[in-house]
Amino acid sequence: MQFQNIIRVIPDFPAEGISFKDITTLLKDGPAFRQAVDCLAAEFAGQHIDLVAGPEARGFVIGAPMAYALGAGFVPIRKPGKLPAAVLHHEYSLEYGVDALEIHQDAILPGQKVLIVDDLLATGGTTKAVISMVEQLGGEVVGLGFLIELLFLHGRTGLDNYKVKSLVQY
Ligand code: AMP
Repeated sequence: MQFQNIIRVIPDFPAEGISFKDITTLLKDGPAFRQAVDCLAAEFAGQHIDLVAGPEARGFVIGAPMAYALGAGFVPIRKPGKLPAAVLHHEYSLEYGVDALEIHQDAILPGQKVLIVDDLLATGGTTKAVISMVEQLGGEVVGLGFLIELLFLHGRTGLDNYKVKSLVQY
């Protein structure tokens, strides 16, 4: 399946110069959504994975079915103020702006093997923040999975020590 044909591209959103990759057109296509999750999960099948961690919000949409497909648990990484129990707070910069994320302090036990999943790898700022949070809690990052990778932003720089997989590259 040509996922690139199903992903809608919106120029100048949310700011001028940003070519926004809109995955809602893929998500509403049942067979395409299933195949995208299955293809990405297949890249990590056979590996020991305890948990999939995904950042809000599109990381939930892809990460939760990935966890289900791999028989792993799911850990939500959320915008500040959303998680009810004690959190680890982490600030980071992304393609358009500065943001912060939080994870429950007890979400990951030391030594647990964690796959990080998001819809898109752009500059890698979000992913590096999530890696840092997982590792601060003692988790071992065993892979990074994305539907989309924006190659021209070189998000993989600094991720040489990790297994990085993406389904669609721009
Ligand atoms: P970054 O931290 O720069 O790698 O940005 C990745 C995060 O920002 C992902 O969670 C994406 O959902 C979002 N994002 C960044 N750039 C785009 C884009 N061009 N189209 C859609 N989402 C984007």
